[in-house]
Amino acid sequence: MANLRNLKLNRYLENGDALARVLREILESSRSLTGKGKPAGYIPELKNVDRSRIGVAVETIAGARASAGDADTSFSIQSISKLFSLIQVLERYGDEIWSRCGKEPSGSSFNSFAQLESERGIPRNPFINAGALTVTDLLHRRLADPAALIRDYLGVLAGAREIAIDEKVASSEFRTAHRNLAIAHILKVYKRISGDPVELVRAYCRQCAIEMSCVELARAALPLACAGYHPVFGEAVMTEKVTRRVNALLLTSGMYASVGSFAYRVGVPAKSGVGGGIVAVLPNFGTVAVWSPELDRSGNSLIGTRLLELFVQITGTGVL
Ligand code: GLN
Repeated sequence: MANLRNLKLNRYLENGDALARVLREILESSRSLTGKGKPAGYIPELKNVDRSRIGVAVETIAGARASAGDADTSFSIQSISKLFSLIQVLERYGDEIWSRCGKEPSGSSFNSFAQLESERGIPRNPFINAGALTVTDLLHRRLADPAALIRDYLGVLAGAREIAIDEKVASSEFRTAHRNLAIAHILKVYKRISGDPVELVRAYCRQCAIEMSCVELARAALPLACAGYHPVFGEAVMTEKVTRRVNALLLTSGMYASVGSFAYRVGVPAKSGVGGGIVAVLPNFGTVAVWSPELDRSGNSLIGTRLLELFVQITGTGVL
C-alpha cells in the first residue's frame, strides 16, 4: 500500500497539468453543494460576498502549481491569519506564549467564552479566538501595529504584490465584536494579556481582515510542508521546529469543534477562517488553499472541506 501511495504522490508532485485536471474535476463535482451552508452572518461586511464563488489552488514543494475557479480573487482570510501570527510569536519569542495559552483541542466553538471563564482565563489553544488574542497581545506588547506585521509577513511569504487589510471589514467586525471584547476582558481579569483589551480586539480585527487569494495563500503556507524551507525562494524562512509544532497544532485544533470529523474525512493539518478560506498542509508534498464563503455549523467552509477531502482522496496526499 505504501508503494501505491508513493506512486500516486510522484505522479502529482511535479506535474502541474495533472494537478489542474484534479482541481477542475473536484471543483465541478462540489458545486452542487452551493446553498447548503451559510456565510458568516455576524460580521456584517462579509454578508456582501458573492456566496457562489469557489476557488482552489495547489502548489507543491517541487515547483508544480495549478488553480481553478476563483483562485485569484482576494477574500477575507479571517482566522487563517492566526496561523501566521502564531508562527511569528514562536519565531520571535520562543515558548513565552505557552505560559498563557494551552495546546489542546477545545471541543467548543471558536468564539466561546464559557470555557475560558471556567478554566481561569487560559485558552485551550492558539487558534480559538481567546488563544489568538493572547498571541496578538504578545506582538502588540512590542509592536505598534501587529496587523501590519502579519500583512507584510504574508506578502513576503506569498512573494505577492502588496497584500491589503480591508479596513471596511475590520471596522465592520469591530463594531459588532461583543464576544471578542468579552473574551479579551476575561483574559485581562486573569492577567493573561498585558495590553488594553479594546485596543487588542481592534488590532485583532484588522489582522483578521487581511485579504488574500487562494494562489497567494497556498504559496505563503508552503514552508510548512517543507520543514521551513521555501521552495519558491530557495531559502529557509521558518525553523523546522516551529513548522513541526505548528503542523501538530493545526491537526489537533485548526478546524475548531469539528477538528475530529475533519481529520476523519481529510486527515491533514489545516486552518480555516469564517471568510470561507481553508489552507491545508500536505507535508513533504505541498499546500492547497480553497475558498467558498458558505460555512458549516462549526464555521468551516462547507464546499472547501469537500474540495480538500476529494483532493486528498484522489492524489493520496493525506498524512494519516
Ligand atoms: N475575526 C473572526 C472572529 O474573531 C475570526 C473567526 C474565524 O475566522 N473563525 O470571530
